Amino acid sequence: MKISYIRTFRLTVSVVLLFSFLQSEAKVVYMSPDGNDSSAGTFDAPMATFPEAYKKIESGDTLYFRGGTYHVDDNQVMKFDKNYAYVFALEKAGTPDKKTCFMGYPGERPVFDFSALKLDGKHRFAAFYLGADNMHLRNFDIVGVPVRVLGHTQSECVAARKGSDCIIENLAMHDGMAIGYYQTAGSNNLVINCDAYNNYDDYSEGAYGGNVDGFGFHLGSPEYTGNVIRNCRAWRNSDDGFDLINCKAPVEIDHCWAFYNGFKPTADHHDISTFESAGDGNGFKAGGYGMKPGKTKCPEVCPRYYIHNCVAYRNKANGIYSNHHLGGSRWENYSSWENRANYNMVNRKSEKEVVDVPGYGHQLTGNVSYTYTDINRGGHLVNCDMLRSELHNNSFAPADSAITVTGDMFVSTNPEDLFLQRDADGNLPRMDFLRAKTGTPIALRHQGWAWEE
Ligand code: CA
Ligand code: CA
Repeated sequence: MKISYIRTFRLTVSVVLLFSFLQSEAKVVYMSPDGNDSSAGTFDAPMATFPEAYKKIESGDTLYFRGGTYHVDDNQVMKFDKNYAYVFALEKAGTPDKKTCFMGYPGERPVFDFSALKLDGKHRFAAFYLGADNMHLRNFDIVGVPVRVLGHTQSECVAARKGSDCIIENLAMHDGMAIGYYQTAGSNNLVINCDAYNNYDDYSEGAYGGNVDGFGFHLGSPEYTGNVIRNCRAWRNSDDGFDLINCKAPVEIDHCWAFYNGFKPTADHHDISTFESAGDGNGFKAGGYGMKPGKTKCPEVCPRYYIHNCVAYRNKANGIYSNHHLGGSRWENYSSWENRANYNMVNRKSEKEVVDVPGYGHQLTGNVSYTYTDINRGGHLVNCDMLRSELHNNSFAPADSAITVTGDMFVSTNPEDLFLQRDADGNLPRMDFLRAKTGTPIALRHQGWAWEE
């Protein structure tokens, strides 16, 4: 009797669980370049365009893009405001356990080509607009996002304007006129395994290209905490590699590579010999609120950025740049080589005093500087107030323990290594470029040196 009662009970529980599982199971919708919008959106009958496929999904569902190229035109723009055309407007929030997913189908690599967008010459483009929490973007390319507005303007490949707890993973944003990833609001977003390269606006502001960064965090409130960018590369963006100007909350940048920024793109993505000057060209620009008197928008507590385990190589301006920030940041385990100055810590004196002063409040630990490009304005470390900053175990400071760095201290000084191919999941093979060789002074003396074998 007892056993059969338990059996019945177990069966009932199983049936109830099965039903609740079926009800909560996320739906999957498919798109393909040779699909059809009147199709059901199944694997065998995929749809064709993003706006129509998007209508079929709900919060927590998955939209899969099959491989191939999707040509996006003006008819597909999903949302407008006065200044922006939000081409694909993603506004269906998931939950922490069940994110709303927009993904390239595993083993395939879809490409969204936005170069046919024209509109009226008045709107900026945000190609993928993130406007809700708990979304996951993964495994596709964004190319050709244009700028069609004159004056001080920009477009963005991924525009994170609202969502928190989103994951942006294994995207390549390239060969367009837009900034790669651009975030102004939201907390706890993770940008991982992404590349932004060959982006240059040759239309607005006299083709200077001064707004096109690889990755930008310009968070509008101190409340937007917990944002992290990891394992990302920025090269041949016409302005900066990574830019945190006007950013009111701390950001962490970890294991990222910035190289050849501030120069115009080249037809060959791996060109290491042609350099035509464009915009600012800093590898990592971390801080600052502009230098106009009375216009400073620094929060009460100045955000302290944590930037570590990164490489800056041959950017037009500084490798690492504090950009007139109103406080210090934490810089650890960097390698910087052939930038104008490898480490430029310049700060602004105070909110009221618009004066450049040697950087204060910085913490520099375990950083390495090889050679730099500008003997007049450059250096291993410039504009740093040594008494008001903390420097430990760097190759260049403190002065009494500084060492001369030579090429044979690194596992590799071959810049071709920077272009190593990511695997299907977006992971890079081990990067040996500017990694300290075991047993060398830089590996031995720089505690916490992340690149040691
Ligand atoms: Ca600029
Ligand atoms: Ca910039």
